[in-house]
Amino acid sequence: DWLQQQPPSAWLSGPAPQARRRHNSHKGSFGDVLVIGGAPGMVGAAILAASAALHHGAGRTLLHLLNTPEFSVYPPLPDLMLPDADSARGHLAHATVVCGCGGGQAVHAWLPAVLEQAPRLVLDADALNALARDETLHHAVQARRARGHATILTPHPLEAARLLRQSTAEVQAQRLTAAQTLADNLQCTVLLKGSGSIIASPGETPHINPTGNPRLAIGGTGDVLAGILAARWQADLPAHAVASQAAWEHGALADQWPAQRALIASALAQAQLQSL
Ligand code: AMP
Ligand code: MG
Repeated sequence: DWLQQQPPSAWLSGPAPQARRRHNSHKGSFGDVLVIGGAPGMVGAAILAASAALHHGAGRTLLHLLNTPEFSVYPPLPDLMLPDADSARGHLAHATVVCGCGGGQAVHAWLPAVLEQAPRLVLDADALNALARDETLHHAVQARRARGHATILTPHPLEAARLLRQSTAEVQAQRLTAAQTLADNLQCTVLLKGSGSIIASPGETPHINPTGNPRLAIGGTGDVLAGILAARWQADLPAHAVASQAAWEHGALADQWPAQRALIASALAQAQLQSL
């Protein structure tokens, strides 16, 4: 019955983050989230991640879209900052960075600098695919932990299979082992998505997320999870707990979703839990 439990610690419970801010807070109190992704044809994925970060309490949300100059004139959401490449590079060393949502091939060029500098890093989608292809990046991920930089990987089963050089069926047959092996190999936290998402980190007890349902099995919901993760990941919070709680919240949002309302990712990004 531990599977039914509420989120494991107190910092996520209570009202939405906007409602429990100290009176003298300012936007710098909550940290910057920088999303890097959105190659041509996949801009929506990066916008979904940024929107979720925005709606889940990031102080400032910056979105660097890869090769999509038209959005620098007209932002997809007026609340977002849209740094160009030079400006985005200037934020790497202090922001919580989400890299890869709809990233295409173009995200590869960003990864060496991102892996070198970002103190808290969420790698998703095409960043994971780049990692699976490039051994140098593999080593760059492994090296982060010793420098005190934390990394969360959010593969779905196919992305995990590419990283492990296995088939998707092999990953799904041993999800706990797959997640823990990846976490140990890469010295980072792994959130293996799907029904019963698994959170694994080196030296930690793996966690199976009890929330969520098949209504999440649509395009874009993984990008929303990446944004929630980044917004919740205040400096000094441990990656394993952040990943467990963000997965819990993402699934709980879907479980609370009204039966008569369509669950689509852009609406999920904006939703708040009714209560915990
Ligand atoms: P992605 O595959 O990157 O689009 O991410 C899909 C998201 O939806 C992940 O957070 C999955 O855990 C979640 N999801 C997909 N299918 C299910 C399911 N059948 N039950 C619970 N969660 C799911
Ligand atoms: Mg995805």
